[in-house]
Amino acid sequence: MRIETSLAKASLTRVDRRDPYKVKHKMKAAELNVLASNFDWSVYFSTAQVPPFEILNVESPAFLKQLNADLTSTWLADWKSYLRFHVANSRSPFLSAAFVNENFAFYRQYLRGAKELQPRWKRCVQYVDRQLGEALGQAYVRKTFPPELKAATLDMTREIEDAMALRIQQLDWMSPQTKQQALNKLHAIRNKIGYPDKWRDYSSVVIVRDDFYGNAERAEEFENHREFNKVGKPVDRAEWDMSPPTVNAYFNPQMNDINFPAGVLQPPLYDAKLDDAPNYGNTGSTIGHELTHGFDDEGRQFDAKGNLKDWWTTQDAAQFVKHADCVVDQYAKYVVVDDIHINSKLTEGEDVADLGGTILAYIAWKDADKGKQLTSRDGLTPDQRFFVGFAQWACANDRPEDLRARAITDPHSPAKYRINGVVVNVPEFGTAFSCKASQPMVKPADKVCKVW
Ligand SMILES: [Zn+2]
Repeated sequence: MRIETSLAKASLTRVDRRDPYKVKHKMKAAELNVLASNFDWSVYFSTAQVPPFEILNVESPAFLKQLNADLTSTWLADWKSYLRFHVANSRSPFLSAAFVNENFAFYRQYLRGAKELQPRWKRCVQYVDRQLGEALGQAYVRKTFPPELKAATLDMTREIEDAMALRIQQLDWMSPQTKQQALNKLHAIRNKIGYPDKWRDYSSVVIVRDDFYGNAERAEEFENHREFNKVGKPVDRAEWDMSPPTVNAYFNPQMNDINFPAGVLQPPLYDAKLDDAPNYGNTGSTIGHELTHGFDDEGRQFDAKGNLKDWWTTQDAAQFVKHADCVVDQYAKYVVVDDIHINSKLTEGEDVADLGGTILAYIAWKDADKGKQLTSRDGLTPDQRFFVGFAQWACANDRPEDLRARAITDPHSPAKYRINGVVVNVPEFGTAFSCKASQPMVKPADKVCKVW
């Protein structure tokens, strides 16, 4: 505990880690040896079979300085206990029931409020997805992601990008010069939909039917080698960080790409049997969310190629901060659980992306359905169905323990505020549901936050 606490104190906070300049310290290998001379880096890198390299990025030099000091000030016996604990702890999901149950009791039950361990088959599916994701993904895509679905969701992505281009051109707080840079970046974004063009080859991973632990070890070893083998090679821009069955999506600032696994393009999120209004409200907002990440407080610092490079004029950057602070101030007032508020400097990027994403989806939907005769369904108008579709992506049921843990670790706001915090800034919502000016889901016009 003493070792862990010392290292934790020397670590960057989650808010700090969102600042790309705070995790950028390019060094020569020799400088690393000076920074943390008590650690034998050459043994470490050769044992891990890392290909030779000359420069590296040390995300947190302060952390390594502390580690270096602790290496000599802590008894060797304590280090051995510490490392033994970490081996057992990290392997516990793959060991016997005593380990599995202890792991659950602390990480899921105590910290997150879970009531029971998931059935074995669910855990096994999750491990296969995590460790052999693109093998599982091929079967998943064959079953659930026909070419028509890929075409339809790619089409929606392009509509949302057109809305973003329009929105940038119409922004009242940005100079033409920065707008041009923003448009260049927007047009350079790569849309990756469903699954990778080239599948990862797992043929070197030995899978043995009665060796669960060994299978997990070998799959992890494969992944470590795959990562280390990138050293010295060109960046593979076709690579995916999520497996096809994943129900999630991401923007990667260093790739300048948006990625939507097949799993997030399925009912009850995207539903090919439904019409545009709920699909744009739901999946359209997700696409807009990832797109907006390229232009949130973190993403905006990367250029069209994914390099950390400032393309903003000083005035425009100041305007961005001013507009984004409106969102930061709004979310800081929300209570997560008990007296814990949202740490809105941690959630800023996600909150800005949630707002931008929904506005883009709404504009794109109106454009896609232009000239169509839209009628009410299930007692809801088309506009109401757009917003219901939007709210339904975030259907959730949280335990207070989980909310509490996430309030200090998760860059996303709780599900409720990812919906309610957005629509108060979208006047079309109030109009759709005939809200009156004094009602809680309506802000006065001069208090409405708008970034993108
Ligand atoms: Zn996000």
